[in-house]
Amino acid sequence: LNNRFLKEQYSEAVTLDGKHISLRLNAGLELNTEQSSVDVCDGVGLYRTEAWFMQKGQFPSQLEQENWYREVLTSYYPKPVVMRTLDIGGDKVLDYFNFTEENPFLGWRGIRISLDHPELFLDQLKAMLKANMGLGNLKIMLPMISGTEEVDESLALFEQAYFELSEKYPAQVIEKPAVGIMLEVPSSLFMIPEWSKKVDFCSVGSNDLTQYLLAVDRSNARVAQLFNPYHPAVLRALKQIASDCEYHQMPFSLCGELGGDPEGAILLIAMGYRRLSMNLSSLNKVRWVVRRLNASDMKTLLAACLAQSSAKQVLRLTRNFMIEHG
Ligand code: PEP
Ligand code: MG
Repeated sequence: LNNRFLKEQYSEAVTLDGKHISLRLNAGLELNTEQSSVDVCDGVGLYRTEAWFMQKGQFPSQLEQENWYREVLTSYYPKPVVMRTLDIGGDKVLDYFNFTEENPFLGWRGIRISLDHPELFLDQLKAMLKANMGLGNLKIMLPMISGTEEVDESLALFEQAYFELSEKYPAQVIEKPAVGIMLEVPSSLFMIPEWSKKVDFCSVGSNDLTQYLLAVDRSNARVAQLFNPYHPAVLRALKQIASDCEYHQMPFSLCGELGGDPEGAILLIAMGYRRLSMNLSSLNKVRWVVRRLNASDMKTLLAACLAQSSAKQVLRLTRNFMIEHG
């Protein structure tokens, strides 16, 4: 029995009708990389760099960051690691960089802070680029993008970081990694045609996308029952993103909690998502479910779910589907 379980852990996530799903890890919140997490994923789909910044008493130096990032990239090498640039603000505050706002989730968050502090952003980008030297498994992802100017300004600073380093290091050692954006602000739903021409990939942050689409604070217990990614509006948005990314040939994935939920994962696969990134505890659960289902049955379920008018109805359908399919 033990042997069978081990085989399950390391086997590929392929549906019964042959659709390959890449299951990646959301990492960064626990500061140590465990070997067990390296073995059970197809790489890191979201590395949250802010957790480390939150533990330190001050902004880490470029060299400290470089050493830290290299350790992470080396642990997962040669699997890809998508490192997200600093995503503070909102629910994630730094003791040494205090600011109070009336509406922190609508305020100074994510890429907005990095662009207002280019010296911090450049330090982080250079540390990532240097850490990747001789490895090459780094991808960089930008959080909380809401407008085209943010994409353009971020890419210009990325080019500057690369240019400044390429003056110091030979071109063959300093690689230019893929740069992607998070789709987690509702405006991004309508910008895929333009942004797909500028960046290499995107990943949906369904936690923030749900919060902003439904106007429900993701960390407020009083409205927690309204925070529901199975709301038909959220599902329809996620489907639209998948269709637009396919049409505009932008590689896409999802790294919010929904992808780590077996019911959520099968709906996303039915929509066309082939890369899902999730917490360590969800990986084997989702792999188990994927390997026992047909993607065509998931599509039938999705069509029914998209036609519902409430999250309650959607969840009733997904639960029945899970029971029917054992
Ligand atoms: C998200 O918003 O869905 C996401 C993955 O990022 P975070 O939870 O760190 O905001
Ligand atoms: Mg987010």
